[in-house]
Amino acid sequence: MNAELKDVKKVIPITPVASEAEPELVSLYAAHEKIYPRSVTGVFTNWRWIMVWVTQIIFYGLPWVEWGQRQAVLFDLEVRRFYIFGLVLYPQDFIYLTGMLIISALSLFLFTAVAGRLWCGYACPQTVYTEIFLWIEKLTEGDRSARMRRDGGAMTAEKFGRKTAKHLIWLLFGLWTGFTFVGYFTPIQTMVSQVSTLDFGPWETFWVLFYGFATYGNAGFMREQVCKHMCPYARFQSVMFDKDTLIVTYDAERGEPRGARSKKADPTKLNLGACVDCSLCVQVCPTGIDIRNGLQYECIGCGACADVCDTVMDKVGYPRGLVKYSTENAMTNKWTQKQTLRHVFRPRILVYTSILMVIVLATLVSLATRTPFKVDVVRDRGVMARIVEAGKTENVYRLQVMNATETDQRYRFSVAGLPGLVLTSEDTVSVRSTEARTVPMRVQLPFEGAPGGSHEIQIVIESLDSPGKLVEKTTFLVPKQ
Ligand code: SF4
Ligand code: SF4
Repeated sequence: MNAELKDVKKVIPITPVASEAEPELVSLYAAHEKIYPRSVTGVFTNWRWIMVWVTQIIFYGLPWVEWGQRQAVLFDLEVRRFYIFGLVLYPQDFIYLTGMLIISALSLFLFTAVAGRLWCGYACPQTVYTEIFLWIEKLTEGDRSARMRRDGGAMTAEKFGRKTAKHLIWLLFGLWTGFTFVGYFTPIQTMVSQVSTLDFGPWETFWVLFYGFATYGNAGFMREQVCKHMCPYARFQSVMFDKDTLIVTYDAERGEPRGARSKKADPTKLNLGACVDCSLCVQVCPTGIDIRNGLQYECIGCGACADVCDTVMDKVGYPRGLVKYSTENAMTNKWTQKQTLRHVFRPRILVYTSILMVIVLATLVSLATRTPFKVDVVRDRGVMARIVEAGKTENVYRLQVMNATETDQRYRFSVAGLPGLVLTSEDTVSVRSTEARTVPMRVQLPFEGAPGGSHEIQIVIESLDSPGKLVEKTTFLVPKQ
């Protein structure tokens, strides 16, 4: 037998099994404890509220903005047209949607590499709506201690009234959010008139209720559970972190040993660090963690603990920044704020930024120079090639012209590519705004204009009412003699 295995055999104690022992049921799941985040003020909280206002003014306001005769931003799935201010996008413009998704993903990578979960802490809808719902909760039920006291006590008329008021406001807010969301897909003015006549379509009803109750459930009840257990971003964010990523950090070297003391006491004489162990950083945390235990995946980087700790430091007269945004390298090397920021903008960040800039620029240039009409040339399968008067060869095509502008347009066609090639059908066509029209096109080539076989030709389509010209390639067939 292998010597190592022999040794293992010698040292493993044999525990007698108590056959009569009662089986013990051990739960693998800890019971969920409700978190009562305490309200906080400070620079990062102000930033979060700025983001709440900016994102929500845009979200709730945009569907009400008019652009000419229509809603400025409308994703009309029924007619498969996306209106974004002056831009009208069709399914053929899918490339721009891809561009926008790539830009969003790259921005997320960039912001995460710079400052960790910046998106989670300040702009994610889950954070934003939780913040709003917490504000409503504070308005109706009071701050943390009052809510905890009330929840622990018996049901009274006052408690019932406050809870009912809270849930009613939450529900109304959720439904308004659902209504606004659907307003991006169905003209919101139409929806308003449908609400007043109780004439809502089944899809609108479903999505208003679904989105409304999802907001109510996620921001009112699920809260940090969504960030901890449902959001996939929380799981892979760590791969984008490195030692120069800004994260919310507790300065353990300065803070420990922690302990309560009187305001006038000298911490060095008491052999204490700067942390007064007030636990306020835990009480304000929306995910209920203790930042003093180091970086944890539950931390959404909101900076609430940094804000409250600064207030505590101000009160006890110690320098701020016991809990702050910093990097692992900055903490190890004791860098100043300037040195830290210099390292934050490292080569990796510059590469991400350059790639992002190139893609943004390419998308914008492509959108700006986009021809406001589209043409599809299809050979008429019924008529391949035929000989007409004076021995000329004729080919017939079908052109589908799509007017991507919001005004009626005229288009002129011409042909090129073979000597003597002429267009014998109508050379001008009108197409109504945002509509498509199919037109037949006859093209003739003089006798012996080209040898028998297939030849490449060009169909030129020019807009007469707005700038834009397209050249479409197709084939011209000459029968073999
Ligand atoms: S808020 Fe600051 S002082 Fe209070 S426990 Fe947290 S780290 Fe310590
Ligand atoms: S530990 Fe601090 S930064 Fe992280 S989620 Fe809690 S309060 Fe926000």
